[in-house]
Amino acid sequence: MSRPTITTHLDTSATPAWLMNKVRTIADRAAAGNLRACPHLATTPTRCAAAWAPDHIACPTCFPLLDPQGAEDNTCDRCRREVDTLNLNLAFCGPLLYAYGLCDFCMTTIDLEAP
Ligand SMILES: [Zn+2]
Ligand SMILES: [Zn+2]
Repeated sequence: MSRPTITTHLDTSATPAWLMNKVRTIADRAAAGNLRACPHLATTPTRCAAAWAPDHIACPTCFPLLDPQGAEDNTCDRCRREVDTLNLNLAFCGPLLYAYGLCDFCMTTIDLEAP
């Protein structure tokens, strides 16, 4: 596993604080060398991360390998409630594509702060 480098250009005006905090956690872990990375990051400009796999980073090709495990598959990444159906969301923060799942309630109140 190679040590990833993430340079984020964060637009805090458009992104809710709870989501920014999650993205910052990924960037901090990368800076500290605490992320597991796929071996292709040196050859692709895009880095993919997901709320349900906070210790991983991957290229777009390897991104499907970050499948949620167990209950995480049905847990809203904002309110942490378990629901039947999650809505997949993607946020671009500079070169980082960040995926997260929201329940129907949070999907329609995305601009609210974390509960
Ligand atoms: Zn890869
Ligand atoms: Zn929710």
